[in-house]
Amino acid sequence: MQDIGYTTLDRTAGKLSASDVAALAAGIRGEVLTQRNGAYEGARKVWNGMVDRRPALIVRASNPQDVRHAVKFAREHRILVSVRGGGHHIAGNSIAEGGLVIDQSGLRTVRVDPEQRIARVAPGALLGDFDREAQAFGLATPLGINSTTGVAGLTLGGGFGWLTRKHGMTIDNLISADLVTADGRQRTVSASQEPDLFWAIQGGGGNFGVVTSLEFRLHPVGPQLYAGLAVYPAAQGRVVLRAWRDFTVDAPEELSVWAVLRKAPPLPFIPNAFHGKDVIVLALVYAGDVVAGERVAAPVLKFGTPAGSALAPMPYAGFQAAFDPLLQPGARNYWKSHDIDRLDDGLLDAAIAAAAAAPGPECEVFIAQLGGAMSRVALAGTAYAGRNARYVMNVHGRWQRPEDDETGRAWARRLYRDAAPFATGGGYVNFFTEEENDRVAQAYGANYGRLREIKRRFDPENLFRMNVNVTPAAGVA
Ligand SMILES: Cc1cc2nc3c(=O)[nH]c(=O)nc-3n(C[C@H](O)[C@H](O)[C@H](O)COP(=O)(O)OP(=O)(O)OC[C@H]3O[C@@H](n4cnc5c(N)ncnc54)[C@H](O)[C@@H]3O)c2cc1C
Repeated sequence: MQDIGYTTLDRTAGKLSASDVAALAAGIRGEVLTQRNGAYEGARKVWNGMVDRRPALIVRASNPQDVRHAVKFAREHRILVSVRGGGHHIAGNSIAEGGLVIDQSGLRTVRVDPEQRIARVAPGALLGDFDREAQAFGLATPLGINSTTGVAGLTLGGGFGWLTRKHGMTIDNLISADLVTADGRQRTVSASQEPDLFWAIQGGGGNFGVVTSLEFRLHPVGPQLYAGLAVYPAAQGRVVLRAWRDFTVDAPEELSVWAVLRKAPPLPFIPNAFHGKDVIVLALVYAGDVVAGERVAAPVLKFGTPAGSALAPMPYAGFQAAFDPLLQPGARNYWKSHDIDRLDDGLLDAAIAAAAAAPGPECEVFIAQLGGAMSRVALAGTAYAGRNARYVMNVHGRWQRPEDDETGRAWARRLYRDAAPFATGGGYVNFFTEEENDRVAQAYGANYGRLREIKRRFDPENLFRMNVNVTPAAGVA
């Protein structure tokens, strides 16, 4: 583990007196939960069922003043503090063991201005909240592919999904944000206001403060888009994945085709004989005209002989939730992830072999196709440094029973290791497990030095360190 750079924030909230806690609660309009509250057990759970931490205090903030009060309290009492959005991060960083959680998950309002094509998003909003409100006006911004992910956490790490090749990353569409920094000050940041801090939160994660509001640019999208799945038997995997790889190289930016290697779920358009068998799922979205989409995506059905397919015009917001049934909260999850430049045959073969050896029906290998608009933003333009990666490969270890933890982890680590020679060495912080803080410098590459300088200016004591941590640069701020 990397040195977290600051070691005196070591007093846990368990040692606070009752009057300390009462003073905290007196300044909070929302709720302060302790282990005695009925709501506590539910409030400490996150998406990854493997995360089982017991914070001393959970502040359910109802406004930015609550956040300021909680930040000041945590700093003064030197308590480990964490910040919760949608609770999806695989490492469970939103829950501080023995510490204080600033939880804004109850604040889910999304306000769309259809004239200006702008959305103001509260810090607890989920992707589904955002898509629903924006799609009511035929608008959207690029988000991720699982509707229960939090907008805040996704954005702060970068954010990519079906619209990214056409409209850039989530951070590329961020106009401004309000955040409370470690000194307790509320700031608005944008390209013209506190530009260093704005640059840092565009990929630098939760290192720089607690975001209380986000403002995004919107684009006309759908509401119907040509989208869906083509499913091939794994026996055709070598041919299909090579054809897919070659096709993606010149595909127009409107089209994104992601490959998923897994056991076939019992979907109605897949014949029963394939259910539970190894398959390659090609999931695609054409972010443009539906007729053009059908034409441009047609080759995806000719990479081999599909076991089944469901490609058609469909509501964009509906497809944004298409993977939700496979990604329900509560399962035990362990992920490993690589940024990939070029899909070598060796990498594809390693992925096929790993999928065939997956220890359970919920494990999968996911390869997202990126590039397009996101790669046209200069590397130094935002903190996010993975813009040259044209693909991201995720090894999703997922199972239900604690006794399967070791086997599941070993499976994910093995493919991660086998794939390493084909990867860029970079990585996406939104996919890092808690043991991967030693990948932070590589993930930010040439941007890391500037990020550490900004961290030193705005959080010299590393108050916000329950995250993929950027340590403050040495010296006096
Ligand atoms: C099933 C699943 C699918 C996913 N799909 C995608 C995808 O398609 N594309 C993609 O880009 N990512 C994807 N991700 C990764 C996702 O972007 C990260 O897990 C992200 O951190 C989730 O944000 P959250 O708010 O839900 O998480 P949380 O766990 O609540 O927060 C994660 C971290 O973000 C920071 N944070 C959250 N809210 C705030 C705030 N208001 N102020 C300051 N810091 C804050 C904190 O450091 C916190 O520890 C996926 C994750 C899962 C589990």
